[in-house]
Amino acid sequence: MTHTQRPYNFSAGPAAIPHEVLSRVAEEMLDWHGSGMSVMEMSHRGREFTAIHEAAERDLRELLQIPAHFHILFMQGGGIGENAIVPMNLSRGGVVDAVLTGTWSRKSADEARRYAQVHIAADSADAQGQYLDLIPASDWKLSPDAAYVHVCTNETIDGLELQQLPDLKALGSDAPLVIDFSSHVASRPVDWSKVGLAFAGAQKNIGPAGLTLVVVRDDLLDRALPICPSAFNYQTVAQAQSMYNTPPTFAIYVAGLVFQWLKQFSYAGQTGLAAIEQRNIDKAALLYQALDASSLYENRVAVRSRSRMNIPFFLRDERLNDPFLAGARDHGLLQLKGHKSVGGMRASIYNAMPLEGVQALVSYLNDFEKRHG
Ligand SMILES: *Cc1c(COP(=O)(O)O)cnc(C)c1O
Repeated sequence: MTHTQRPYNFSAGPAAIPHEVLSRVAEEMLDWHGSGMSVMEMSHRGREFTAIHEAAERDLRELLQIPAHFHILFMQGGGIGENAIVPMNLSRGGVVDAVLTGTWSRKSADEARRYAQVHIAADSADAQGQYLDLIPASDWKLSPDAAYVHVCTNETIDGLELQQLPDLKALGSDAPLVIDFSSHVASRPVDWSKVGLAFAGAQKNIGPAGLTLVVVRDDLLDRALPICPSAFNYQTVAQAQSMYNTPPTFAIYVAGLVFQWLKQFSYAGQTGLAAIEQRNIDKAALLYQALDASSLYENRVAVRSRSRMNIPFFLRDERLNDPFLAGARDHGLLQLKGHKSVGGMRASIYNAMPLEGVQALVSYLNDFEKRHG
């Protein structure tokens, strides 16, 4: 299928969705597979939606190689909701370990304090309070009795990514690892042998806002505090196959199409997750190389900690920010403005961003520098 060219969208979230998926949604909008209904209008317990839901779960399990002893839950409340839902389900009111790597993990720790005693096992903020590098897991000060260890594996705002999940057992902790993988889910494989629970808001790398993905090991289902709302109790949701309350049906449908797109994705002689990971590696390398080679732009994150998905950068002369953004829009490069807490620019280059989009950004960067550098 050929598509008319749309602008390249670098939004951090809600973010770009693959063009093929959006076209398919448009085709099926008024009548899904001869049902006479839009997916939005279907009973969540009906035959049609049940098929959509089951396929989405099956495809995700296959794509991310999620073992059988994990439940996949489709919930609501987003990443910020999970900051409360996780401690309500897993903390037992005791101690939880938090690793602070940036804005999102700080937020998670602040929320968890309402339900548990939070022990900061590591905080990689520098003297100015900025997050520019990660502390190696071997230097984390884990507590002996933590109910879980929370780590944000990709810091969307600060642009840091853990390149490897920690092996908590090897570090002397029996606690399950909880990862917030909202902004790099499905961009690379996950070593599930190291994970107790993973959660992600859908709107970065999976589909539309409104869906929250939770992948939880079966033995962690049964620990919720009595105050935990039933709709947020992992056990209750798991027993009801994510149908305890009405799930975000349309978002699940679109996410399911994204999972199919990923399964069939091919690049550099590979298919599926390996292919999308390789393209993500290539895209990030291209952009970091351009930034590092320039004397106008800079990314300040330590090379070992840099994210493949979210790349913040600054213009050394801040007076050029507005002309830079206006010129970018004119070149069909959208939503490059940095997060308000960090300033500067940020290019989010999730799965849906083609290599050509990053090439177009790099050529604009070079062009702008020639005129203003
Ligand atoms: C976006 C984001 C969140 C917050 O998600 P909401 O859906 O707005 O609640 C949490 N964690 C990370 C890592 C994120 O990128």
